[in-house]
Amino acid sequence: MPAVIPAIVATSSTDPLVLGTVERRDVGPADVRIDIRWAGVCHSDIHTVQGDWGPQPFPLTVGHEIVGTVAEVGSDVTRFAVGDRVGVGCLVNSCGECANCRAGEEQHCLEGAVGTYAATDVDGTITQGGYATSIVVTEDFVLRVPDAIPYEKAAPLLCAGITTYSPLRHWKAGPGTRVAVIGLGGLGHLAVKIAHAMGAEVTVLSRSLAKKDDALALGADRCFATEDAETFRTLRGSFDLIINSVSAPIDIDAHLKLLALNGTLVNVGAPAEPMPVRAGTLISGRRSFAGSNIGGIAETQEMLDFCAEHGIAPEVEITSADRINEAWARVLASDVRYRFVIDIETLRD
Ligand SMILES: [Zn+2]
Ligand SMILES: [Zn+2]
Repeated sequence: MPAVIPAIVATSSTDPLVLGTVERRDVGPADVRIDIRWAGVCHSDIHTVQGDWGPQPFPLTVGHEIVGTVAEVGSDVTRFAVGDRVGVGCLVNSCGECANCRAGEEQHCLEGAVGTYAATDVDGTITQGGYATSIVVTEDFVLRVPDAIPYEKAAPLLCAGITTYSPLRHWKAGPGTRVAVIGLGGLGHLAVKIAHAMGAEVTVLSRSLAKKDDALALGADRCFATEDAETFRTLRGSFDLIINSVSAPIDIDAHLKLLALNGTLVNVGAPAEPMPVRAGTLISGRRSFAGSNIGGIAETQEMLDFCAEHGIAPEVEITSADRINEAWARVLASDVRYRFVIDIETLRD
């Protein structure tokens, strides 16, 4: 019998979220049941519910930045035990057999990876996310959360952390490389911390200089305002790698011109609108315009271990279940420094 547990529920694309319940399957042989303690609020949660990425199966519980402790394990589970501190990110399943899965890139599964919410799972049910008191996940998609990462801050690493770590690793940010981060929000602030820890020289490109002190405190070497046209003249040809964390359209062509020879601009934000690029901008300086989507499970574990080793944790504001609608409104207004985390104990009261 599936368990019925407390959850924050979206009933439509327009109504406020409500406190309700969600069902969880019984723990199968390969499953882990996690008592959720903290759940991060990702902009994708809001995009999904509001229908920005297409119609959704309501009622729906979102949340794919999940941290808690193992409460029960199936008979075949070997890597986790009751009491372990664990996390779940944006994926809860994939085919495991295609070339991309075998390469550890489950997020690019050719059969379609199963997202943590609003996706059709292998058993035909619709997945329900982490704004809830527990979740049941096959052990292959459960991450170990090192003790060195403060418990209440770990959750945003499971989406925002891996989304920025993976392209920084893939395009080899490190000593001697010049990295720029566009946008200082949930994703951008982690990109700055991680790139700095990797040894890169880090520049923040923000609309204004309002967050300059924050940018420098997070590990940036410099901060420039993109509302100032002079910035684009000063920084022309300056960067090996630019991470664009902004999920609204920006003048991508102007930012591409900030790349040095062989430089790459990677989009991790996902605006719905097309962004025009001139071929000449790419041809000149052999520039690349690329995208990146979270990371595989092994790389997500590598990211968590890297953050533990380097003392990296997100800047968070703790909120409660009954204030989730206010938190979402503030995310939409870019009024959070830099990630909301829901105290899931407040769902158990
Ligand atoms: Zn996310
Ligand atoms: Zn696959």
